[in-house]
Amino acid sequence: MRPITDTMLAIALLLTCILVGSELSAATEPAEADLMHPVLQQAEALRFQDPEAAINGLVAALDEPHSPALRLEMADLATRIARDQGWLDQAIQHAQRMKVLAQQLDDRSLEGRAQHLQGTILAEQGEIATAIGHFHNARRVLESSDDVGSLALTVNALGVAHNLLNDAVRARDYYQQALPLARTAGNDNLELSIKSNLALIAADLEGPNQSIELHQGALGLAREQQHQPQIANQLANLCKQFIAVGQLDLANGACSEALPIAESLNHPRLLAGTLMTVGDLRVAQGENEEALELYQRALPLVENVLPFVEAELLDKTVQLHSQSGNYELAYTLLRRQQALNEDILNTERSEAIQQLEVQYQVEQQASEMAMLQLQNELQATQLNQRESLLIVAGIALLTIFAGSLVTWRNYRVKSQLQRDLAVRNQELKDAVEQVTHLANRDSLTGLLNRRSFEQASEHENARRIRNDQPLTLVMADIDKFKPINDQYGHLVGDEVLKELSRRIRRNLREIDLACRWGGEEFVLLLPDTTANQARAVIERLRVALTARPVETSVGDLPVSLSFGIAQVNDTIDAGLQRADEAMFEGKRKGTNRIMISNMMRLVQPSAG
Ligand code: GH3
Ligand code: MG
Ligand code: MG
Repeated sequence: MRPITDTMLAIALLLTCILVGSELSAATEPAEADLMHPVLQQAEALRFQDPEAAINGLVAALDEPHSPALRLEMADLATRIARDQGWLDQAIQHAQRMKVLAQQLDDRSLEGRAQHLQGTILAEQGEIATAIGHFHNARRVLESSDDVGSLALTVNALGVAHNLLNDAVRARDYYQQALPLARTAGNDNLELSIKSNLALIAADLEGPNQSIELHQGALGLAREQQHQPQIANQLANLCKQFIAVGQLDLANGACSEALPIAESLNHPRLLAGTLMTVGDLRVAQGENEEALELYQRALPLVENVLPFVEAELLDKTVQLHSQSGNYELAYTLLRRQQALNEDILNTERSEAIQQLEVQYQVEQQASEMAMLQLQNELQATQLNQRESLLIVAGIALLTIFAGSLVTWRNYRVKSQLQRDLAVRNQELKDAVEQVTHLANRDSLTGLLNRRSFEQASEHENARRIRNDQPLTLVMADIDKFKPINDQYGHLVGDEVLKELSRRIRRNLREIDLACRWGGEEFVLLLPDTTANQARAVIERLRVALTARPVETSVGDLPVSLSFGIAQVNDTIDAGLQRADEAMFEGKRKGTNRIMISNMMRLVQPSAG
């Protein structure tokens, strides 16, 4: 799983890219300033001084009987003004209106762009799943238009959205599709944005060095085009990657150049992203106080507008405060961050509730476990009251921190989490299987151990009674095994036990149970088999076991076993006892032979 902090600048700047991209889309419109309608002119004039009045003028004009094309332009401008101001709900409404007007005009390009704009605004609000839906719709509409430029923009946005969901591979796929479209459209700025996005993704997929190379390429292009926001963007990203590889001097160079550019552009999101990176650099340089100032400058720029970035900045701020022992402030900020994360989470949960539910529960359990652990630690610690109070405060802090991390990560790494979860579940399943296997097996021979045999045989006996089927037990004991140990040592004895066990397993059916009962004793259970049938089976087995000597490290050793057979007609224990008696009777009669329990003979005479 990617560490949370690694992706944040990417997110901040990717959002910038969506924005830069969308603005490019507007900029590619034919310049109509000369023939601009007075309502539009007035709104443009008021746009920055009094955005509310600008929008009100547009909204009023939208209800007047203007042509759909003009009303569409009004809705478009209202959308952009609202978005600039961070009035996102309003912006979405205007974009929706824009889309309806475009549909009325049957203008596929404008319809697609309106749809795209809605997606962009939603993505900024953190509603990525919904945003992706809009981008796909936009893509569909644009593919049936000849507006390749907007199509490129939308495909790029799909990449951005997938990257926000931590699906870097799919994101790269979309960027690579978007790149030739941007070239076809002749949109250099967009091409640059996409290259920049590919560079960002390279940091995740191929590591910082690859990313540095791509960012340097993109920076070169940005300088050629004299595109100031992208110059700042690439420099900030380079700074970030240099921090990642520990080249702090180079990072400092890039950041020092990026910040004044970002400050000179009236571009709050870009500035926030850059401030955050410079803050990260200061942390890496051990200048925490300066970092804190930078983060705090960035926070109001994104507050209530970019929840992702806001949460990340809060996270960084909290870390610095708690490092400097400023727990009270850290605690307050954590509460804020947690509320924010829950907000983001709730929005997203309504979109992908099923997927999230499972992850949420898993994470929830992890958080409960963390809490229990903390409580235990607290109980174990007998300190004076003041120290205890400190610990309680620390625990509350940690708990909230863990909780907020849980909810935050839950959202942030949704898709990654799903993959991790699948892998973890598989690993867990494998581990459980392995443990179960080990717990049920004798470690030397791999046959069932006594405990698991007892369980399984009870099960078989119940089935025997239920289905009225025969069931037969066999006790087997290696003849004169002690002398092998005595003469060649235990290890050689072990070799014999292993090989005989292998032969036993190989000569039985899948449904038969073979157990190492004790030292050199084995118990077999043959379902659906009478004592007479078992006799034939065991005779074949006896031959298979004794026909060839066992090859050991000290040479070939001849072995034999004695067998006692008892068909179960009562409990397993009773059957075992009779099989054991029969086996000993065989030993008494001279080893290497098969005996059937006397009692069984009474029930079922045989040729034993
Ligand atoms: P009999 O023909 O009467 O069965 O004689 P035996 O020597 O096979 O029987 P006895 O019960 O006297 O000895 C069994 C030996 O099995 C004694 C013990 O050292 C050996 N044994 C038990 N468990 C292990 C084991 O895990 N590894 C090895 N190498 N030997 C074992
Ligand atoms: Mg024995
Ligand atoms: Mg023996």
